[in-house]
Amino acid sequence: MSFIDNLISNTIRSDVRAIDAYHVPDSSGFIKLDAMENPYVLPAPLRAELGKKLADAMLNRYPDASYATLKAAIRANLGVPAGYDVLLGNGSDELISIMAMACARQDRRAVVMAPTPAFVMFARSAQFAGMDFVGVPLKADFSLDRAAMLAAIAEHKPALLFLAYPNNPTGNLYDADDMVAIIEALGETGLAIVDEAYEPFAQSSFMGRLAEFPNLVVMRTLSKLGLAGIRLGYMSAAPALLEQFEKVRPPYNVNVLTHTAAEFALAHVAVLNEQAAALRAARAQLAAQLAALAGVEVFPSAANFLLIRVPNSDEVCAKLHARKVLVKNMGKMHGVLSNCIRVTVSTPEENSVFFDAITASLA
Ligand SMILES: *Cc1c(COP(=O)(O)O)cnc(C)c1O
Repeated sequence: MSFIDNLISNTIRSDVRAIDAYHVPDSSGFIKLDAMENPYVLPAPLRAELGKKLADAMLNRYPDASYATLKAAIRANLGVPAGYDVLLGNGSDELISIMAMACARQDRRAVVMAPTPAFVMFARSAQFAGMDFVGVPLKADFSLDRAAMLAAIAEHKPALLFLAYPNNPTGNLYDADDMVAIIEALGETGLAIVDEAYEPFAQSSFMGRLAEFPNLVVMRTLSKLGLAGIRLGYMSAAPALLEQFEKVRPPYNVNVLTHTAAEFALAHVAVLNEQAAALRAARAQLAAQLAALAGVEVFPSAANFLLIRVPNSDEVCAKLHARKVLVKNMGKMHGVLSNCIRVTVSTPEENSVFFDAITASLA
């Protein structure tokens, strides 16, 4: 063993040494349909105006620690109920870590729970914080197994339970009555985090129901709306609860450029909403086209991606890759996802390149 190997085994936790880093494939030269990005950018005049604002941003100063104007813009434009504030994160990934850090207790291992398959960061953040992750399998139709969830809640008493609404990678909205039963079952012993990363494409939300459930946290991001590059997530919950999470949030976690760009984009949120509407229409069109292909099953989606099942996802993904189209092969991720592929809905042009490529790949 070399010095560096010994150093690593003497210092880095074994569970960290054992895992692979979050892998992002090289996408240069590809049509990128693997990461649920919005393919549209702001119109050129708006980008020029934003450029001036970014040039004037005070990069020599720390950000405004209160983020008061940005938070006000989020509350005003994104449907946060009166009397509720938001907590900001460097992407919602950071919000997930903040909640895990705040709830990972010292006296016994606390539990993070989610229906599975789920967004991978729920389990990763739990692990890094020193919490146990308990996944409760979805039914084969990707609906919540209400009885199994309620039994798992009674057994494990999770401190945090994540429900992605709609879910990634399955794309569906869970039944709201099932969700309410779960939120109520957690009661005073657990927080229900409804992750609404895809809210612009779902147009269905728990944000307006915060007052009904004191243990409800609603988390969102600007990433899927068209600003993945700036990394800004936000969450709302009862003020007393947000106050606790605020203590764990690193000060200045949202940088000056992100603050400036987000405020500018929210002042022009109608443009982003139009892009989301175009993607919703394109989703319906692509879903119908794919459903007409022999051997392809298309699952209902309330997100900006489609989950489809093909006869052999490894083979189809390899052929799409050879045609320079990048999608996500979900076939090995979880039992209910066998031979499934997740594809981001994009512009009509990119969707038709994808459609032609998958048609050829299935032949
Ligand atoms: C993409 C995604 C996020 C991550 O959002 P960021 O704000 O970019 O960190 C969170 N939750 C789900 C379910 C997602 O699919």
